[in-house]
Amino acid sequence: MKRTLASLLPSPLKSLLKRKRRELLSYPPIAALRGRLQLAPSLLCLLKEPPLRRFKRLHIVLGSACNNRCLMCYQEEFHRRITPWILTQTLLPLYPRVEEIILQGGEPTVLPESRTLIEVAGKANPRIRFSLFSNGLALDASWRETLLERGGFLNLSLNAASRDIYSLVCRNNRWEKVLENLSLLVEERNRRGSPLKVRLSMVILPENFREILPFLELGESLGVNAVQFFFDSHLLPEKRELADLIEKALLWRSSHSLPVEGLENLKALLEERPAPLFPCSWPLDSLFVDVDGTLSFCCLFTKPLGNLHAASADRLLSLPKAERWRAEFLRGNRSKCGLPCRGKSS
Ligand code: SF4
Ligand code: SF4
Repeated sequence: MKRTLASLLPSPLKSLLKRKRRELLSYPPIAALRGRLQLAPSLLCLLKEPPLRRFKRLHIVLGSACNNRCLMCYQEEFHRRITPWILTQTLLPLYPRVEEIILQGGEPTVLPESRTLIEVAGKANPRIRFSLFSNGLALDASWRETLLERGGFLNLSLNAASRDIYSLVCRNNRWEKVLENLSLLVEERNRRGSPLKVRLSMVILPENFREILPFLELGESLGVNAVQFFFDSHLLPEKRELADLIEKALLWRSSHSLPVEGLENLKALLEERPAPLFPCSWPLDSLFVDVDGTLSFCCLFTKPLGNLHAASADRLLSLPKAERWRAEFLRGNRSKCGLPCRGKSS
């Protein structure tokens, strides 16, 4: 039988020790702490593992204003703006801990909030890299300089491989201007050895899908780092011809070094089978802030953590539901993830 130090004491001392222990445990602050720990054992895990200790990315939608009106745009309006103090006050404590901030609109290069964010976050943490989703129309010398100096990646949504299809999908006639902006950026990036990564992207639509292969060739000739395809399952072209073109694009990829992303998921959708699950760490190291202040683990996560107009990011991240969702995700449960991330494409 295991013998404790107390069991070796003479009886009067033993009962004194018991009484003192009872008194100590009923002392109000200690009793309250014990109660809390019993009610929320998960708090212990939070103490051991602070939320987002390894904080990598902050993805922010700054507004819906845009200098384009693309055919497939999901936005219903073009005038919303994020509340400025979310950028200058609420998120301020996070900037020193973050490695990358992803700016999204609308079009981030025409939103003054983008400049505010870069200035405030850049001052709080000179190591932050700023990445953009952009249509490239307003990628002027000043934006190119920001990207070359402090950029992580630029995802330029070109959506076409020719002037005519570009005009049809992006509904403007500034094809040459976008290509010029992009070429200047890539040339300067190569000359200066900037770590900026440039990705060219296309949303596959009935109007542009015959340009999938030329789009890859264009990306390669422009010297981008990768080509990325997106799609909306409600806006797809004729399936048999699309499947054929995807096979050709995958064949092209197998004999070229340019990384091409997004075709596997579309192929899986056309073949009516689950899309491959990809590795993801967003709930463990990243946050998404929508234009209305909603905070989530990522832009596709179906459950928000809360709203930054009502509570701080650290407070929302410490809620029991945040911890529960992170734990579920770590166990491989993606039930709260967006459809494409659950292994389905529609
Ligand atoms: S560039 Fe983006 S935000 Fe602007 S209209 Fe096109 S899809 Fe919409
Ligand atoms: S929805 Fe889930 S799997 Fe997809 S990016 Fe977000 S956290 Fe990752």
